[in-house]
Amino acid sequence: MSRAWFDRARAVTPGGVNSPVRAFDAVGGTPRFIRSARGAWLTDVDGYEYVDLIGSWGPMLLGHAHPDVLAAVAEAAARGTSYGAPTTPEVELAEEIVARAPVDRVRFVSSGTEATMSAIRLARGFTGRDLVVKFAGCYHGHVDALLASAGSGLATFGVPGTPGVPDASTALTLVLPYHDRAAVEKVFVEHGDRIACLITEAAPGNMGVIPPEPGFNAFLAETCARHGALFVSDEVMTGFRASARGQWGLDGAVEGWRPDLVTFGKVIGGGFPAAAFGGRADVMSRLAPEGPVYQAGTLSGNPVATTAGLTTLRLATDDVYAHLAAAGDTVKAAVTESLTAAGVPHVVQSNGTMFSVFFTDRPVRDFDDASGQDVSAFAAFFHAMLDAGVHLPPSAYEAWFLSAAHDDRAVQTVLDALPAAARAAAANGGAHE
Ligand code: PLP
Repeated sequence: MSRAWFDRARAVTPGGVNSPVRAFDAVGGTPRFIRSARGAWLTDVDGYEYVDLIGSWGPMLLGHAHPDVLAAVAEAAARGTSYGAPTTPEVELAEEIVARAPVDRVRFVSSGTEATMSAIRLARGFTGRDLVVKFAGCYHGHVDALLASAGSGLATFGVPGTPGVPDASTALTLVLPYHDRAAVEKVFVEHGDRIACLITEAAPGNMGVIPPEPGFNAFLAETCARHGALFVSDEVMTGFRASARGQWGLDGAVEGWRPDLVTFGKVIGGGFPAAAFGGRADVMSRLAPEGPVYQAGTLSGNPVATTAGLTTLRLATDDVYAHLAAAGDTVKAAVTESLTAAGVPHVVQSNGTMFSVFFTDRPVRDFDDASGQDVSAFAAFFHAMLDAGVHLPPSAYEAWFLSAAHDDRAVQTVLDALPAAARAAAANGGAHE
């Protein structure tokens, strides 16, 4: 039935999906249409069950359909689903975020894309400057200015990464290789007085997981401060996921620096569309209605979404992160063992409780390294895992997301699937139905 639904979907929606990676283009075959999910498990429209390692691409920290989240959401929805007027859960969620993350104040939006777009507008409004620095391979949502690819030389202005983005939008974006301190120094020496902000994934997770080298985020923060630019740490993926205090808990709190602005999404919506940006009080106070920088949203701070996020964050105790770390260690060790036994070149990289598997023989520090992967080996591996009841993210460039609900049975299902999948990767797959 997934096949029939995919045909129907393609007739009415480009590619049959509402976000490109879901279409299985990177691995071939037919995406599974999901009927329901509970805990660590997905059930598709054909009734097949899969251990879920997509986790909605990050939000489902507690697993699917957590009873407390469902109860809170049902209660909130019964009181009405949106008013366009202030509500108490948005205040409580903001307080929860401010208590855990390095931000004084936050503003809610509905997607990570909106969060990064708004953070950049605020950085430009605050500094009175136009240029934005980003890293190749870091994804910040589909904001025009951030869908920029590196130009022909090092440290040049970006070129549009997709048709539909005008040259003018990316002409104000500088795209650098991740981890390249010399390139960062160079753009700040050349353009420092025109740079509004540098935005980086707090730890890259969208080219696979790349742990920032110790001191790298501190170096970025210090360089921005030296040149009067803002340091924007995109924690949409890592926030309340890589650790209880996000990536900042892993490096900023340890090394003693704070970002000027932070973006959040995914976990703070608990599976609903909620995201946020926040930061220094003096920067945030430039935002309308306190300040002149305009930003708004019909569903921003929606009471059902913020209730789901609030309930999720309150349940995200140290035990949850300890469980994610332990389950992750078990899976990572088994992946390494199976791929090694099958003779498949691979690198497993972790950052806090996040991890991913690269089908390459070298450590991955930047986008060029990540691009050197054997994607056909991954495709074969992916389909063998799927056939054995494990739904990995359908792309070689994604983190594998575990949850608090990944219990021994779910983890064992993953472990049992690995040896055959590793052998399939070794044989390099082939065409998939
Ligand atoms: N920033 C990062 C680091 C992300 O991983 C994503 C999405 O994956 C976004 C921003 C965009 O978020 P959204 O898909 O909610 O627009």
